[in-house]
Parts: sequence; C-alpha cells; structure tokens
Amino acid sequence: MDSLQRVVAAMAQTPKNYALVYRDNALVGIFSYDNVAHAAAYQADFSQAPAGLWMTPLEALQPLNAPLDWPLVFSPLCPERPYAPVVDQAQHWLGLLTDRGFYTLLPKPEAPASDWAELTACHYSAALFQQQQERLALALEGAQMGTWDWDLAKGTIIISDVQERLLGLAPGEFDGSYDSLFTRLHPDDQATVHQALHHAIRLKRRYAIEFRVQPPTGPLRWLSAKGHVFDDGEHSPRLAGVTLDISDQKRAAAKIKHQAQRERLVGEIAQRIRHLLDLDSILDQTVISVREFIEADRVIVVQCGPDMAGEVVQESCSPAYRSMLGWALRDPWSVSKTFLDHYRAGRGLAVENIYTQQLSIDQLEFLEYFQIQAEIVVPLLQEQTLWGLLIAHQCRSPRAWRTADVRLLQSLSIQVGIAIQQAKLHRDLTLANQRLKRIAYLDGLTQVANRRRFDQQLDQEWRRMSREKSVLSLIMGDIDCFKGFNDRYGHQAGDNCLRLVARTLSRAAKRPGDLVARYGGEEFVIVLPNTDLKGAEALAEDIRLMVRRRRIPHEGSTVAKIVTMSLGVASAEPGIYSSPAELIKQADQALYQAKHEGRDQVRLASVLAGDGG
Ligand code: GH3
Ligand code: MG
Ligand code: MG
Repeated sequence: MDSLQRVVAAMAQTPKNYALVYRDNALVGIFSYDNVAHAAAYQADFSQAPAGLWMTPLEALQPLNAPLDWPLVFSPLCPERPYAPVVDQAQHWLGLLTDRGFYTLLPKPEAPASDWAELTACHYSAALFQQQQERLALALEGAQMGTWDWDLAKGTIIISDVQERLLGLAPGEFDGSYDSLFTRLHPDDQATVHQALHHAIRLKRRYAIEFRVQPPTGPLRWLSAKGHVFDDGEHSPRLAGVTLDISDQKRAAAKIKHQAQRERLVGEIAQRIRHLLDLDSILDQTVISVREFIEADRVIVVQCGPDMAGEVVQESCSPAYRSMLGWALRDPWSVSKTFLDHYRAGRGLAVENIYTQQLSIDQLEFLEYFQIQAEIVVPLLQEQTLWGLLIAHQCRSPRAWRTADVRLLQSLSIQVGIAIQQAKLHRDLTLANQRLKRIAYLDGLTQVANRRRFDQQLDQEWRRMSREKSVLSLIMGDIDCFKGFNDRYGHQAGDNCLRLVARTLSRAAKRPGDLVARYGGEEFVIVLPNTDLKGAEALAEDIRLMVRRRRIPHEGSTVAKIVTMSLGVASAEPGIYSSPAELIKQADQALYQAKHEGRDQVRLASVLAGDGG
C-alpha cells in the first residue's frame, strides 16, 4: 500500500481527481478529494500514513438502485479488472461500474451536515477553478485578447500566446524583458506608451493606450491596451492588463473620417462655385478644385456645340502633360455616339484603362496624343439639354477610380450645372439692367445724357470738387434761331440737326469726367470737372467753331446762312456759400448775354467765389 503522500502526488500529476488504491494487484478502494480533505482535517501525516487508512474501501460502496441521471464518462478500463471508475465531466470520481451494477458512496445520514458541506465545497472549488480557468482561456483566445503581467520588482514580463502574436512575435520569441517588448512598437508611439505606463505605475492608476506595431510582414497593426497596477502589499507590485487588435476599427474610423472630409470638401467646392457669377470663374474654379481633390493629371470642361463637336473651354493640367485648352473636339463623347443619350440622361462614365475599351484607331490615336490612359466623364446639363462635359484624365497610368471619385464628379456636375444657369441668368439680368440704366439716363433723340443724368452728375461733381478743392465749370449752349430752322426745314430736319449738334458737342468734350447733356429743347449743357473758367471758355469757343464747321444750312437765321450756337460759361470753386443751382444760373445768364449781344458767340460769367464769398 502506498503512503498517502504518493497517492496524493499521483492524483496531482494526472488530470484526474481520484486514485484507485490496490493491494497485491487487487483494487481495495478509491481515493478522491473527499478523502484528501478528510485526511487533512484529521492532520494525517501524509508521508507516513498508509493511504488505506483514509481511502474509501470497496465495501463502503453501495449499489445505487436509482437510475443514473448524469451522463457517464468511462475512464480507460483495464480488461483484467472488473471495475471501471465513473467520473463526471470535470473528472471527479462518482463511483465504480462493476459487472454487478453501479456502486457509489451514498451520503451518510449520520455524518454531520457541516462536514459533508465542507467536503463538497472542497470538491467543487477545485473543479470550478479549473472550469473558470478553461473558460477564461477560451474567451481570451476567442476574443484574440492578449494578456501581460509585469512583475515590477523582478522586472520580468509574462505575456500570453495571443499577446505574442499581436506584437508580431514568433511563438516563444519573447524573452520577458521590457526592452524587447518595446522594440516591437512603432517608433512614433514608443515614448507615449512608455510615459503612460510609468504614469500608471507612479500614481497606481489604470492605463488605457492605443499604439501601433509593425509586424515583420503584413500591414501596420493598431493595438489598444488597458490595465492596472496591482499592489496589495503581500505580493510584489505588478502591472497587468489586456491588449486587443483594433486595426479594423481604426481603418473603419479612418474611412468614415475620409468620407466626411470628402463630403465637406464637395460642399465647400460647391459653395465656392455657386458664389461665382461669371461662367469663366465658375469653370476655372471647378477644374482646379476637381484636379486638386481627386489628384487627376488633367481636368477639362468641354462645351458642346450644336453638332457633335465640342471645345475645351477650361482646363487644369499637370505641367507634365499636354494642354488641351482650346481644342476643338470632333468626338467629345468618348468611346461612341451611343453615349450621347447616356449623358443626356445625366449619367457619367468611368474608364479604368482605355486599352481595354474597343476603340477605333482614330480614337486611340487621339487619346494617346494627349497621353490619356483613364478618364471619368460626367455631363453638365442645362435643364434637359447637354451643355457640356466635365472630364478628369489620368495620364501617368491606368487608374481604378474609386466610387467616391466618380460620385464627387457627379455631385459637382449638378452644382456646376446650376452655377452655369445662374451665371447665364446673371449675365442676362446685368445686360437688361445696363439697358434700362441707359434708357433712364439717355436722351432718346440725341443719345447724350438727359436732364436727370445731368442733375445727378452736376451734384456729384460739385461734391467731389468741393472735397478736392478744385474748380467746376459749366457751358450752356443754345442753337441760334432754331424756331426758324424748324419752320423752314420741318421738324424732322430739326431733329436731325439736334442730333448732329449733340454729336459735335460729345466729340468736343473729350475728358473722361466731362458730361454732355441735353438741357431741354435746343439747349445743351456740358459739365467740366477740374476745369477753370479759362479752359471752359476755350472749349466753348472750340464748340462754337465746330458747329459752324458743320455748315448746316440755315437760310432763316438772322446770324449766318448756317447753324450757329451761342454759349455761356460759368465756373465755381464749390463751397458752402455757393451751389450747383447758382452755377447753372450764372451760365444761363452768360448765355443770355451772348444772345443779347448778337448770338454766335461765347460769354463768361464772373467767377463764382467759394467759401470766402
Ligand atoms: P434763339 O436764337 O433766341 O435761341 O432763338 P430760337 O428760335 O432758337 O429760340 P426759341 O427758344 O424761341 O425756340 C426754340 C425752338 O426750338 C422751339 C422749337 O421749335 C425748337 N425745338 C425745341 N425742341 C425741339 C425738338 O426736339 N425738335 C425740334 N425739331 N425742334 C425743337
Ligand atoms: Mg435757340
Ligand atoms: Mg432755346
């Protein structure tokens, strides 16, 4: 019979929780955890006491008459022995199966309840511990969660198999040192991780870090590690925690971020484009933004002509490739005419590699000349008509366009379409406004400024000259004996004469600030900023002579046989003691004087004093 110690050691060495006890090769009893607990409770000397003293003898086993309600698991049965130990799934001994039936140790009614409970607890805690350990190991393996345990006093680190794999180490490669753990980390992350761990140690805090490792093969890996410092005073302090591979999450997050960024950029480009009102700037901004954003080698806008032709009207092109700007394209439809309907329906086209398309030699030559290897084409629509195409080219190589690139061009093309329409409306509106303005400020008969425009201009120049402390002059001219002209030649001829005189005045007053206006009837005024009385007088004299030189016949005139003009000139240095109305009055008086003194002459008003009076 073995000593107790040997029997217990035998139990510990196998995964079983029981030992069969033999004497002279005959089974005499069974030794289980219950027996160990029992022997321990009585402080048996394990090295000396025979196992037979503490084992459950075969005689103590009693047949179990009730049917078995647990699944039986047989231990390997030796053929020469008529006993088969029966264990549960945790290898705990339950009884013996013999040729006469199942024998087990029935609960002893006389045994004190606490004893029994203690033995059962001992029996189960061992099983539970093992079970839990198995479960934890499975869960960690299943979750691909690595664990590590750093003994801070000894400076040794124990890591799990999963942790070893996560760090990109071969099985058994890790030597347990802090330094070799760190060499696996991405150089940019080493300092941060080091800092976080030491911070946790110093403050006895939790740590939660994310870092990258570069395995010997394969892509960069993102890991997330969390843990805690354990320092219970009994054991040496340890830093322990778990590590998870979060590369997928990181990649997904990066993708979402990129997508959001892309959407924001499309919005920004659209905004920029829609704020522009002239077509050139819209298209220019479009090609620049698109090229920059999808990193294409060339981006063009082709405006479609009435037939199948088109012209490259805008371009952003890498200096490494030929410019297409201004090119007239016989076939801008890419690939074939069938695409016309495709484009009209608002659909685009993405070609990864032109050589995989069945293109004609002409088309291929054209594409090769411009070094085009891949392209995206999207239509620019104006309501239902095809206005043009927005095209991105890849020249350095074929290119597998990302869906996002195509989508970007498509959503932009809609914005550009709207912007083009807006620009057209804006241009029409601007033209209409200009026309209206002209009508509102022009004299219909003579096409020089009207009275309203004159009033406005005089007021404006008055204020300007006042600020600039300069001189403003006014010439007022009136055709001599014009009533007689109408009477003799008719009203139509009178109108023609007025037009001719107006043109003559416009030609005479050449400076940008000068303004010729019809004051009323056959009376004209000229506003002359920055012109003194002497200068204005010279101009008035020029005008008088120029009108004469026209030699418009006027038989009924009392002055000459041709149309002549009388002119009055006044000047002022604008200030608070004078006014535009005063200047007009002065010029009018000078004109009256010219008429009074025989017509066909220039008369001056005295200089209107400024602030000084
Ligand atoms: P004076 O030398 O004193 O200026 O004599 P006048 O006949 O030119 O002067 P008055 O002011 O008496 O006559 C102006 C005439 O100009 C009256 C009208 O027949 C003519 N007139 C005014 N407006 C027009 C116009 O729009 N077309 C034509 N054909 N004649 C006009
Ligand atoms: Mg007149
Ligand atoms: Mg008159």
